[in-house]
Amino acid sequence: MKQKIRSFIKSHRRDCLLGLAVLFLLLGSAAALYFQRQVGDKSQVVVSFQGTEILRTDLDKDQKYIIEDGTARETDFHTVLASLGEEAYPSNHNVNLLTIKDGTVYMSESNCPGLVCVSMEPLTSDAYDIPIVCLPHGLLVTIETS
Ligand SMILES: [Zn+2]
Repeated sequence: MKQKIRSFIKSHRRDCLLGLAVLFLLLGSAAALYFQRQVGDKSQVVVSFQGTEILRTDLDKDQKYIIEDGTARETDFHTVLASLGEEAYPSNHNVNLLTIKDGTVYMSESNCPGLVCVSMEPLTSDAYDIPIVCLPHGLLVTIETS
């Protein structure tokens, strides 16, 4: 068997070399494309409140934000509306929780009426045509790519 392979390679040496060369070229260009995408993907999440930008951050970094009465602050992933207690009562504050994870951004929770923002599709760097809107709280979440 080994002998057969060896004689095959010997008689098809040029084809084998050519095949190898093509294979390396393909691998090389695939790798180049891959790294270019990694470096070139500079998508940013932009949140505005009543038309004014209040948050701009990278889409490729996992993070979670509390947006309260038009002000955004970073929090950890354990934070949920229930853990905020009275702070999250709709009669006290307008509160939204925005999650950025695995290259997607979505409104994970809100105390707005209707919860339309929470049911909207997550945005990604490939799909961001329809922004996430929380109309009752005056919030707009979009993605900007460079
Ligand atoms: Zn909402």
